[in-house]
Amino acid sequence: NFRLTARFDADAQSALLRPNPKLARALANSKAKGLPPISVLPLSGQYLSILAGVMGAKSVLEIGTLGGYSSICFAEVGAKVTSIEIDPKHRDVALENVDGLDVEILLGAALDVLPKLAEEGRQFDMVFIDADFDDQWEHFDWAVKLTRPKGCVFLDDVVVSMLKNEQTGEGGSDTILTKVGKDERVMATLVSTAAAHPMIPTPALNGFIMAMVKDH
Ligand code: SAM
Repeated sequence: NFRLTARFDADAQSALLRPNPKLARALANSKAKGLPPISVLPLSGQYLSILAGVMGAKSVLEIGTLGGYSSICFAEVGAKVTSIEIDPKHRDVALENVDGLDVEILLGAALDVLPKLAEEGRQFDMVFIDADFDDQWEHFDWAVKLTRPKGCVFLDDVVVSMLKNEQTGEGGSDTILTKVGKDERVMATLVSTAAAHPMIPTPALNGFIMAMVKDH
């Protein structure tokens, strides 16, 4: 079944994606500078662009910049992007890749930067979480606080991180899904995806949590 879904994913990629020079240049430059190939996959990037576009998102917060691939996906549909990155090398490559777009990159560990954004009273239409698996819940918690009512929090790599938890036994029975499920501030769903991921053999199942922040 994974194989079948992965085949349809490949078909969808060739049918639905159009050439995008900015994204292609970002990927090539990131590869040339030695960044790991872990940006969102092209169809997921397009999903992010569509979601931000249909929401009319003016401001997007991103946790985990890497080379700025997903930042470009948001900026290209008219959002101002604030992106947090812990690694100065990734930040430098991302700055080259997002040149000319409305993207600011804040250098630091997300759990240091997020409280500062909250202190400043910043609110975003959408938050995209795509950093380390271990802090997913803490990032989600801050993301909800920083999202406007009826805004959206999008958490990537949920299935991969749950499989990792199962394999390592970390976290016990409380998973990112059960924690989000108990969170009365949001209504959430799991969107499954089939695609390659460096952490598990291909073809692999992955997925993201998409949550709408309720009125607060
Ligand atoms: N969103 C990017 C894209 O699709 O192009 C991919 C992000 S990559 C999967 C994860 C990034 O998060 C890496 O660049 C890593 O250095 C960064 N990162 C990891 N832990 C972090 C943390 N605690 N705070 C900020 N950035 C972090």
